[in-house]
Amino acid sequence: MTCVFSRRQLPPTAGLPLHWRDLAGRHADFSADLAQALGIPPPLLTCSGTAALIIALRTLQQRQPDRYQVIVPAWTCPLVALAVHYCPSLKIIPCDIRRGSINFDRQKLAQLCGSQTLAIVVTHLAGRVADTDYAIHVATANGAAVIEDAAQSMGAKNAGKSVGLAGDIGFFSLAMGKGLTTAEGGVLFSRSAELQAALARQIASDLPHHAGWELRRITELWCYWLMYHPDRLDWVYGRQQRAALKRGDTVAAVGDDFTVDDIPLHTLGHYRQRVAAAAFRRFPLWLLDNRQRAERRVVALERLPGVTVMQDGAEQQGVWPFILVLMPDGASRDRAMRRLWSAGLGVTRLFIHVLSGYPAVLPFIQPTSTPNAEDFAARSLSISNSHWVREADFTRILNALRTALATEDAAKES
Ligand SMILES: *Cc1c(COP(=O)(O)O)cnc(C)c1O
Repeated sequence: MTCVFSRRQLPPTAGLPLHWRDLAGRHADFSADLAQALGIPPPLLTCSGTAALIIALRTLQQRQPDRYQVIVPAWTCPLVALAVHYCPSLKIIPCDIRRGSINFDRQKLAQLCGSQTLAIVVTHLAGRVADTDYAIHVATANGAAVIEDAAQSMGAKNAGKSVGLAGDIGFFSLAMGKGLTTAEGGVLFSRSAELQAALARQIASDLPHHAGWELRRITELWCYWLMYHPDRLDWVYGRQQRAALKRGDTVAAVGDDFTVDDIPLHTLGHYRQRVAAAAFRRFPLWLLDNRQRAERRVVALERLPGVTVMQDGAEQQGVWPFILVLMPDGASRDRAMRRLWSAGLGVTRLFIHVLSGYPAVLPFIQPTSTPNAEDFAARSLSISNSHWVREADFTRILNALRTALATEDAAKES
């Protein structure tokens, strides 16, 4: 059935839709449910993934107040860098990635990490499982900590264990579009009971209850329940994105236009926890369904000449909010986006720039040379893995990519 008032708009990621029954908020202990299903210690809950990172950094800062550098991948969510605005004296050091990979360039990481490094942030981007072993090796040698940013990867496993358990501290995001959502929210934990207790103390001192923000987030969560559907998403997502693209504002089109004012610090209210706990009962089956769909589609994408899809290693089992694709070059990626970005098919870009490309982020970073991260930003695109992306939609996407890859097309357009 199609809606007469609005064009069909697929979501850019696979968010877990809410049922009206979830909104009754009858379900009990969200933290205990997460712990049991994911095999992690009962996690602490925060108002956002960024807030979880801020708490992690502040906790580590108190243990090693003389260290001030935080190493992060040069291509990541700008909020990660903006977080240090709330941890005075910390600086972000962007580290380049390996060409065509989400993992750190090992040599660069070893060069950048030293006696002033507080933490290395390993990022499980796009649901993939990133390499934590080498970061742990380098961090340990230098007395630094490892934080696993699994904002996009709740449910992902490395050798049978949840991501976030190998390093010192791990966190997930419950923001809209990352999977399970509380409108905004964060899940923070440590395999070390001692560190977990320190994180809990930090939260108790730094995150107050805030009625205004809580009311706003509850309203947003109800809006998500109401509007998160292909027949209605155009009103709250598609239109704004097309308008931004028309202005040439790609950063706004993907929602990367953050500032430090977008990071309130408060608790995650009990009502929203109960709503999430209710939805979470569907989470394991939904992850499985997403995985099966993605695995089929990855095979088809990998057949396209010169195209690479981000996948997992042998022992790893990631999750699939979307499929992260690398085109052979920036020109073919741009041709593909011209056809697909405004088509309502859930094809978009993840982060437009490397960290140093965002003016709001610049005051918080010590820029380094990051050619591979720039290459990744120029060649990548993402394809939604929502269950609403039907086979016919995916075929349209494949065809558009095929056309973008054909050189005749390049000649025609130039
Ligand atoms: C979204 C995201 C964050 C921040 O999480 P929020 O819940 O939106 O604050 C951090 N890191 C990565 C990689 C992300 O994608």
